[in-house]
Amino acid sequence: MRSITDMDLSSKKVILRCDYNVPIKDGIIEDDTRIRMSLDTINYLLKNNCKIIILSHLGKIKEESDKAKNSLYPVSIRLGELLHKNILFSKDTRSDELTKMASNLKEKEILLVENTRYEDLDSKKESSCDMDLASYWASLGEVFINDAYGTLHRAHASNVGIAKILPSAVGFLVLNELNKIDSLLEENTSPFIVIMGGKKVSDKIKVIDNLITKCDKLLIGGGMAYTFLASLGYNVGSSLIDKESLDYAKNVLKNYKNKIVLPVDAIVATEISPETQTTNKNIDSILDNEIALDIGSETIKLYEYNLQNAQRVIMNGPMGVFEIEKFSQGTKAIYEYLTKNNIKTIIGGGDSASSVNKLGYTNKFYHVSTGGGATLEYLEGKTLPGLSVIEDEK
Ligand code: AMP
Repeated sequence: MRSITDMDLSSKKVILRCDYNVPIKDGIIEDDTRIRMSLDTINYLLKNNCKIIILSHLGKIKEESDKAKNSLYPVSIRLGELLHKNILFSKDTRSDELTKMASNLKEKEILLVENTRYEDLDSKKESSCDMDLASYWASLGEVFINDAYGTLHRAHASNVGIAKILPSAVGFLVLNELNKIDSLLEENTSPFIVIMGGKKVSDKIKVIDNLITKCDKLLIGGGMAYTFLASLGYNVGSSLIDKESLDYAKNVLKNYKNKIVLPVDAIVATEISPETQTTNKNIDSILDNEIALDIGSETIKLYEYNLQNAQRVIMNGPMGVFEIEKFSQGTKAIYEYLTKNNIKTIIGGGDSASSVNKLGYTNKFYHVSTGGGATLEYLEGKTLPGLSVIEDEK
């Protein structure tokens, strides 16, 4: 994989693909983590006297009215504040004016182009990797750096398309994410424990299939666990069941019965609300109207027992409905155990990062992946299109 440090970038005009898909409400950026995470690469380019043209998507653009609320303009302001620099902004994604702005760019100047997905209004040109569009964007610069980790699993014009045309490499954010995941997966230490939680089994089947052969134990919590328990014949009451995955759950439990550990008790309630009454119940005594919304105290002990001496852990998804305090204790207990014992842990995929921040564990793990879908697909062992196009380059 060609990395940003493998290229001679001195004074070059660089197209930089970032992931600035940040939450924005009424023009205000609610969380600028993704902008901050792009600074290492931008500062490196500035040090190399590059002229920098940044592309990113933001949200989804399905109709004209989606444009205003998904403008990258507020990002240009925030980026300028973080870099103490004026950021040029192009309100067009393709125009003579943009071409002129790009060609007039001087060393150490930064031009942020409006949301690449504005181009989706015209036959999904960005999302379907339209090569005319990619050629236009490529024509604005000399080299391409892809640092948009969160979109590596997508083949869009602004990441895969441009990389097919220009000499390309990945930036520091992508390198860091991949190095962390690769080094943990390739490290030959055990016990290696995988913890899976969250909602839908079907979303995670391929991750389970890929990791089950590599790990020593798979601990299952979250809503997912009740599909597995139901497949064994337990009455899980009104808990979440992913019906289409019942057969899969039954088979994987049969094939790996010594590896998979399921909850023995749960925090149950009759509704999902902060006010509801909760009870800690054994898994075999859940009533029809009860929903299991977190792992129980005996399960926490059981999982901690299985994590004793763990050398590495991958955790994907929360153990319960962590958004409500009453059902966040299982996830919190596991995070506490992992961090207190300094167990080398990657938390990643889906929405895992938000539970880490919400429960107060920011910066306490070896790595919290920011990628959502990209991390899940990487953990499935899939080749990510945004990477393979750079790997394939001569
Ligand atoms: P995922 O995106 O699949 O990782 O799922 C994350 C979501 O799973 C979170 O929003 C949690 O609220 C939810 N979740 C975790 N445990 C449960 C449960 N026992 N029942 C229902 N939802 C759950």
